[in-house]
Amino acid sequence: MKLLLKIFFIIFVFINFCGCQSDIEKDVDLLTKIKDKKVFLVGVNKNSKPFAYINSQGELEGFDVELIKEISKKLFDTDKIIEFISVTPSNRILSLNSKEVDIVISTMTITEERLRIVDFSNPYYMTGQAILVNEDSNIRSGKDLNGKKVGIVLGTTAATNIRYIASNAIIKGFKNYEDAFEEFKKGNIDAISTDDVILQGIATKSSKYKILPDRYSTEFYGIALRKDEYSKNLKLAINDALDIMEKSGKIKELERKYNVQYRR
Ligand code: GLU
Repeated sequence: MKLLLKIFFIIFVFINFCGCQSDIEKDVDLLTKIKDKKVFLVGVNKNSKPFAYINSQGELEGFDVELIKEISKKLFDTDKIIEFISVTPSNRILSLNSKEVDIVISTMTITEERLRIVDFSNPYYMTGQAILVNEDSNIRSGKDLNGKKVGIVLGTTAATNIRYIASNAIIKGFKNYEDAFEEFKKGNIDAISTDDVILQGIATKSSKYKILPDRYSTEFYGIALRKDEYSKNLKLAINDALDIMEKSGKIKELERKYNVQYRR
């Protein structure tokens, strides 16, 4: 009988101990958790030159990539704890809210609609939606897209905005910019529309393409965080780091390095 009581007591203590552990874990905010575990899970779109892309040495680089490395150095004294996880515009919010990643830095515009389901840092970059066409195209502005095939990447602001720019455009949705550009080169679509800096990354591949002069939106990029209590300290720390980098000229330096300074 005594032995049975002992066993029950041990099981009771064990269950309570496990319970406490998970409660403690729940109460630890994300900033502390990243510091303790030494793992910072960062979602990036590795297919959005010059913000994040694989270079000729097979390494991930770009404006967003370097910016988050700088932030990590400021917050955690190192960028070696970052694990970059691929996201696309259509799955990045799901990746964030399902806790696959701690934050998303991915040319992501702060919008009212997105603010309902995620939180954002202060803006770190400004751009606008533009249109890419062939150099000899007769498309000269947004309204010329009516009746024409326009490529957009699913889940982007362009996918929504394009309906206001040209309500009769034939919209072709792609998973990423590479696929859209392939179809554009084959002549299967007449234009691609997204932020001008992203189009700039595509257009530099050849002088056969041009970006039309009009801009159809103002897009402020922010770092997306989960909309919960546990992400608040991380958000404050990221905002402080962005502020320091803005004042020190570090953000401008990165803009020059990746040739994206012309829109700020
Ligand atoms: N900035 C736009 C957006 O957040 C388009 C860029 C992109 O993420 O591909 O939807």
